[in-house]
Amino acid sequence: MNPAFTKVSELGEKLLKQKMKFQGIRIFQLNIGNFKKGAAMTIPGIGIFVGKGMQHDTELLRHEFGHVLQCRKWGFWFFWRSIASDSLKSALNQKRKYAPHMHTWTEWSANWLAYQYFDKPGDWNFSRFPITPAGESRVSKPKFAWRRRIHIRFNVS
Ligand SMILES: [Zn+2]
Repeated sequence: MNPAFTKVSELGEKLLKQKMKFQGIRIFQLNIGNFKKGAAMTIPGIGIFVGKGMQHDTELLRHEFGHVLQCRKWGFWFFWRSIASDSLKSALNQKRKYAPHMHTWTEWSANWLAYQYFDKPGDWNFSRFPITPAGESRVSKPKFAWRRRIHIRFNVS
């Protein structure tokens, strides 16, 4: 059998054996590539992917769960069209540092939604997971908001 295929299917089997969940969302622990350096990713409908040891990082899981909340709130297609692409671009751009990843609208809004969802937990780490943009930059708001001068409204209850 093709060795690359064997590797992928082994990885898949390993992932399917993992039974961890956070808020009913499956947590998959991956020890490859950027996941080794603390990267994490959420694919709504499938689960949250984190690096080794990070499955116990509640702060990170709450942030990733915020992306699940975005998808629930704004819909799957909106999530994929706007959030996944901006979020990924921002994550990949980390080195260029025009704005920190967490100040991208896809990120701070995930934090904001999670912060509300978990009922404003006292141990929320605001410097690691800010719930508002630190200032206006070209990534602090979604592109469509700049274009049409509309604001995403969050329902504060
Ligand atoms: Zn994120």
